[in-house]
Amino acid sequence: MAVTINKDTCTGCGACIDCCPVEALTMVSDKATVDADTCVDCGACIDECPVEAISL
Ligand code: SF4
Ligand code: SF4
Repeated sequence: MAVTINKDTCTGCGACIDCCPVEALTMVSDKATVDADTCVDCGACIDECPVEAISL
């Protein structure tokens, strides 16, 4: 599993990247991108996103 990031909604603010405990999130072309093999589904980034672009 891994979170899903809505790239139409993501503003590229970077807040989710800083909060991920396993560094599963990176910025690619100004959009947050998740490494599905690294994400542990903790949900921390979901609460951090100001535009609700991340879901499980
Ligand atoms: S759910 Fe947790 S582990 Fe997965 S990308 Fe978000 S903060 Fe990182
Ligand atoms: S916190 Fe939300 S808007 Fe900001 S980079 Fe992450 S997914 Fe995009």
